[in-house]
Amino acid sequence: MKPEVSKVDYLFADELFGRLVWFVRLRWIAVAGLVAASLIGPFLGLPGVWPALLVVGSFVAVFNIIFIYHLGWRSRRERPYEHLRSCAVRQIVADLAALVVTAHFTGGLQSPALLFFAFHMAIGTIILPTRIMYIVATCTSGAMFAVYMLENTGVLAFHPLDPSRGMCGAACQFNMPAFIFALVGVVALTDSVTSRFKKRNLKLWETTRELRQSTDDLQRTLEQVETVEQRKSHYMRISAHQLRSPLATVRTSLQVLTEGYVEPGTDRGKKLLEGALERLDDLLVTVNGLLDLAKMREGRARAPWTRKVNINQLLADILDALEPLARARSIRLVPDFEGVVILDWGVPPDLIYAFENLIENAIKYSRERGEVTTRLHLNGDRATVEVVDHGIGIPEKFLVDVMHEFVRAPNGKKHAPQGTGLGLAIAREAVEAHGGTLELRSREEEGTTATVSLSIHVKPLKGSTELVGEP
Ligand code: ATP
Ligand code: MG
Repeated sequence: MKPEVSKVDYLFADELFGRLVWFVRLRWIAVAGLVAASLIGPFLGLPGVWPALLVVGSFVAVFNIIFIYHLGWRSRRERPYEHLRSCAVRQIVADLAALVVTAHFTGGLQSPALLFFAFHMAIGTIILPTRIMYIVATCTSGAMFAVYMLENTGVLAFHPLDPSRGMCGAACQFNMPAFIFALVGVVALTDSVTSRFKKRNLKLWETTRELRQSTDDLQRTLEQVETVEQRKSHYMRISAHQLRSPLATVRTSLQVLTEGYVEPGTDRGKKLLEGALERLDDLLVTVNGLLDLAKMREGRARAPWTRKVNINQLLADILDALEPLARARSIRLVPDFEGVVILDWGVPPDLIYAFENLIENAIKYSRERGEVTTRLHLNGDRATVEVVDHGIGIPEKFLVDVMHEFVRAPNGKKHAPQGTGLGLAIAREAVEAHGGTLELRSREEEGTTATVSLSIHVKPLKGSTELVGEP
């Protein structure tokens, strides 16, 4: 399993990248120093040193090029922390190995290169987890101890900086423990200084993250509120528009009568009053439809009705109720039920409204002597009701819009002038309140299929958007 990277680590990903770039640049200076030392060495009376330091310098130059490649200079944003950390560990280990070799060729435990070990330990503790640096310090001490032992036993040649002085002898016995103590001490000291800073940074990081999350949430809520507001004002505008024209007609009729242009008792007067009455009836139907829609959207009074619903029974009752309407237009209603569908949770009045509207539409927009089929089948926990007619169909560009309030297709209006354009909007609302979907497929002059898909286990709650899964 991949090891979990702590938040503190993540916090330094960006800084770590910067430090590694810095390391790479400094290494070029080290390469220049090694090459310079190897070239100047012979003039200072250090003939043994020059070829070895040149080789070490070349190695350092080669692995620095490899590090540049591994670091992914240009794609810093895609570099995850783990990658940067392993780059850092590799760089530090390679540097320390080069330093051990350099130290060996420049006097072992008397080498001036020893100072650079401490420098690496300090930087390593700042950019890497402290436990890694303790391991690195232990390994480095081990490596230097091995070099010291091999030099002392004569297995490795001793390369003093000043050949005339030879090995430092007993005085050097203390250099080894001092070296180990210095490495571990630098790690411990650096950690004690940086850990507080790391913790503070972590707190800041967490606060920033929470703040960013809250801002995102707020932004999303604001967008939702804006959408709802837009929808609300659109709905109010359309509704007012729909109510205005019958009201204007009634007002004109009454004005003509009250101002005495037409006598109420005459035939023309009666006709005007009958027309006004008809428009008021239309108005009442529209207002009732709007109220139904509002009720459906608010989910008001739905909860007490929620219960198990036998869809076969419900559809059979609707077909019975609509039989006279279909007969009047010589349209055959064909039930085609496959299996028994029982919803665990359903609101019968809303479901009746939805299916009644779809079947009523199929009858209304069919030609005389047509056929309307109501299919029902169950697939797993999904029930599907299809209302199929072979009527006038819906023009493609109105297929989506007819689901919105007051939208009627021109061919529909021509075929059946009466209609509020609210039926499908209410039906869709009712179906969605049950966690279902309503889809229309249609071809002009060929017919329409309205498909309702419902899950038999979804419980409708107060609003159409609030649903729960299993009862
Ligand atoms: P109301 O439902 O108040 O009688 P309506 O039927 O016009 O009015 P909706 O049921 O919302 O309102 O239908 C909107 C429009 O969609 C209709 O006017 C009609 O143009 C089109 N439509 C709906 N169902 C069909 C169908 N089965 N065949 C052809 N057109 C349809
Ligand atoms: Mg309708």
